[in-house]
Amino acid sequence: MKTHHQIIIIGAGTAGIMTAGQLLKKDKNLDIAIIDPAEKHYYQPAWTLVGAGTYDYKRTGRPMGALIPKGATPGSRMP
Ligand SMILES: Cc1cc2nc3c(=O)[nH]c(=O)nc-3n(C[C@H](O)[C@H](O)[C@H](O)COP(=O)(O)OP(=O)(O)OC[C@H]3O[C@@H](n4cnc5c(N)ncnc54)[C@H](O)[C@@H]3O)c2cc1C
Repeated sequence: MKTHHQIIIIGAGTAGIMTAGQLLKKDKNLDIAIIDPAEKHYYQPAWTLVGAGTYDYKRTGRPMGALIPKGATPGSRMP
């Protein structure tokens, strides 16, 4: 496993994923790693609907790996 990167983002929530995406949009050659121990990313705004009983909680979570921008390296822990 590669242990050094140009940029490391801690947390693959909305902020981490968007930051990685924006940086890669500016320069696709950047070497970015995103560290997050969670296996799922939850779309939190939908939880409001879950609370109201109109949306299924299970549908608010998606596999973390599917949302990491192409070109960024996913990681679950610091090396
Ligand atoms: C019920 C609800 C309704 C909402 N509705 C709206 C809305 O309508 N519109 C809107 O704009 N916003 C809404 N929000 C807010 C929005 O969801 C949050 O502002 C946004 O998700 C915050 O993004 P974030 O990346 O800061 O945190 P998160 O998306 O929560 O991500 C944090 C990530 O950090 C990871 N993490 C935590 N600790 C560590 C660690 N030590 N090391 C590595 N990784 C770590 C977690 O696993 C997680 O993946 C809502 C939130 C809630 C709860």
